[in-house]
Amino acid sequence: MRELQHLDWPFLEERHGILASELDTWAREHVAHIHGPDVDAACRTLVRTLGGAGWLRNAIGGAWGEQETIDTRAICLIRETLAYHNGLADFAFAMQGLGSGAISLQGTNEQKEKWLPRVARGEAIAAFALSEPDAGSDVAGMQCAARVEGDHAILDGEKTWISNGGIADFYVVFCRTGEAPGARGISAFIVEAGTPGFEIAERIEVIAPHPLARLKFTNCRVPLSNRIGAAGEGFKVAMRTLDVFRTSVAAAALGFARRALDEALQRATSRKMFNGTLADFQLTQAKLAQMATTIDSAALLVYRAAWMRDEGATVTKEAAMAKMAATEGAQQVIDAAVQMFGGLGVKSGETVEQLYREIRSLRIYEGATEVQQLIIARELLKELKE
Ligand SMILES: Cc1cc2nc3c(=O)[nH]c(=O)nc-3n(C[C@H](O)[C@H](O)[C@H](O)COP(=O)(O)OP(=O)(O)OC[C@H]3O[C@@H](n4cnc5c(N)ncnc54)[C@H](O)[C@@H]3O)c2cc1C
Repeated sequence: MRELQHLDWPFLEERHGILASELDTWAREHVAHIHGPDVDAACRTLVRTLGGAGWLRNAIGGAWGEQETIDTRAICLIRETLAYHNGLADFAFAMQGLGSGAISLQGTNEQKEKWLPRVARGEAIAAFALSEPDAGSDVAGMQCAARVEGDHAILDGEKTWISNGGIADFYVVFCRTGEAPGARGISAFIVEAGTPGFEIAERIEVIAPHPLARLKFTNCRVPLSNRIGAAGEGFKVAMRTLDVFRTSVAAAALGFARRALDEALQRATSRKMFNGTLADFQLTQAKLAQMATTIDSAALLVYRAAWMRDEGATVTKEAAMAKMAATEGAQQVIDAAVQMFGGLGVKSGETVEQLYREIRSLRIYEGATEVQQLIIARELLKELKE
């Protein structure tokens, strides 16, 4: 049994501690070993397994969720725990939440009834389609457009880097609808897989395999009843969703980092060298101390941001701080673990080698570190003027 001391922190309630401890035990038995060369199949299995056991209810809010509103702390604890055991399980959980988040937060009752129960049971796979080939960090520069014809919207354009692309049952797609220039002229639509005019243009392979694709829309008709929120409000819908899930990316990074530290401790105390073990040397001890301190500082930022959001506060700055500190810190922790493992650290299939590949994209998606820095600075300067 792992020591989960942070569960006693005042940011968390008793139910959170119970949830994380139970999931830790469950994950060890049920998802830690689900991998395999067919990443689509592994991901589908993970979604069904997580849904069947009831964990996905925590990824959504409302009547079909575990709580009336999205519980950020629960989502963070679940991501941290799943990431510790299996990166793809964390991905499967996170995408059910991110992909359906706009519906949970701002969908109509009809949209919620149609999708949320199936998302929660792991019967429908969700995706969130915001980025485009020429609009990633500068997301308001998106080109994918939707024009209204009668009671339909007609979508034309592309989205890329879309997680679950190719296996999702529905995609929340953000398009330019032109009510106003820039961010104020964007709307969100639910597009079901198989809708005529919608195709998977390319499957994309990345260093830590996940289902990922470029999507193409050509005269793709979706009923206006599939729009989430008001016309022109799509950017706000996207940002509200990311406000929840950005902190949870930090929590996933924390899970990867905790695993790396545990692996490093095991290795350092068992690897024999120079008439002792690797852990006997002060150079190793300094590394372990730095790793543990980086992890605890990131954890404090993660659970502060999650707690503040659950208390109803605006967490733009705190979520950005958590994401930057946890993802950058986890990269350093994991790199230190790989170094301690020596040659074994870069051997394909070793846990620390997998962690090294898993962590890299977390510093890029849902706002690269540089974007988080700009957000933090902007908020600081805004506070100064107030
Ligand atoms: C594995 C993976 C999964 C993803 N899943 C999804 C998904 O499900 N849905 C979705 O919509 N998108 C997804 N994305 C896309 C992701 O959000 C974008 O990759 C990210 O926003 C960066 O956009 P970009 O790749 O176009 O890079 P660019 O916007 O070209 O940025 C490149 C780099 O420039 C730097 N940079 C950016 N802005 C500044 C600045 N102002 N000043 C200085 N430097 C800067 C950063 O280092 C950044 O990494 C995913 C990406 C990856 C890698």
